[in-house]
Amino acid sequence: MRGRSRPVVAIDGPAGAGKSTVARAVADALGFVFVDTGALYRGLALAASERGVDWEDGPALAKLAGELDLSFGPEGHLRIDGDDRDDEIRTPEMAQGASKVSAHPEVRAALLGVQRALGADGGAVLEGRDIGTVVFPDAEVKVFLTAAPDERARRRQRDLAERGVEADFQDLLASIRERDERDVHRAVAPLRPAEDAWVLDSTGRSLEEVVERVVARVRSVGQGPENSGRAT
Ligand code: C5P
Repeated sequence: MRGRSRPVVAIDGPAGAGKSTVARAVADALGFVFVDTGALYRGLALAASERGVDWEDGPALAKLAGELDLSFGPEGHLRIDGDDRDDEIRTPEMAQGASKVSAHPEVRAALLGVQRALGADGGAVLEGRDIGTVVFPDAEVKVFLTAAPDERARRRQRDLAERGVEADFQDLLASIRERDERDVHRAVAPLRPAEDAWVLDSTGRSLEEVVERVVARVRSVGQGPENSGRAT
């Protein structure tokens, strides 16, 4: 397994497709580490706004990324310089900030090492936009999780409500479409399924079903040629 004793699982896809929920549940089921890479971009956007660094200034953002200590606590919360900042990055404003800062090639390069280090030993589920294409092109399992835009907006609204944040459905839908547009059309690491990714549409499927299918896929890795084909 490419020098790793346990697989790396890459889960990519657009905003609100259920990646975090699915990736977390898959990691729990397998006893793997869960890494939410979007949290790193959100954390950088938050730190930048606090320090007066412009979200449009790629070189300054990359410099800041190099200075920050971005890590995850045992509960999976993002820590910036040791402090749990997870609640503050889960806002629509920081979602937009992350989308903007992540479009700069310098920023993506600056955060590549952190992401690779988090999954280097295997036994990790990483979710993001370019895990299967750029961060771990050799991941043993690559899933591209999608869902219809209005279902994604509904899920985001529910997630935010659970965190006590009220958000308008149409605003969320517009924001999701805007972020998709930016992710798909950026010059570096655009959002697209890896050639060898398994494209899974979660519209109308239960969380349990999606998780079960991904877990089964991970368990089948390395068990012989009959399992190495492209799943549908
Ligand atoms: O997944 P999440 O909504 O937290 O990601 C926030 C933003 O960070 C995304 O809209 C995307 O622009 C960016 N991102 C990225 N590459 C990743 C993860 C997130 O560009 N691997």
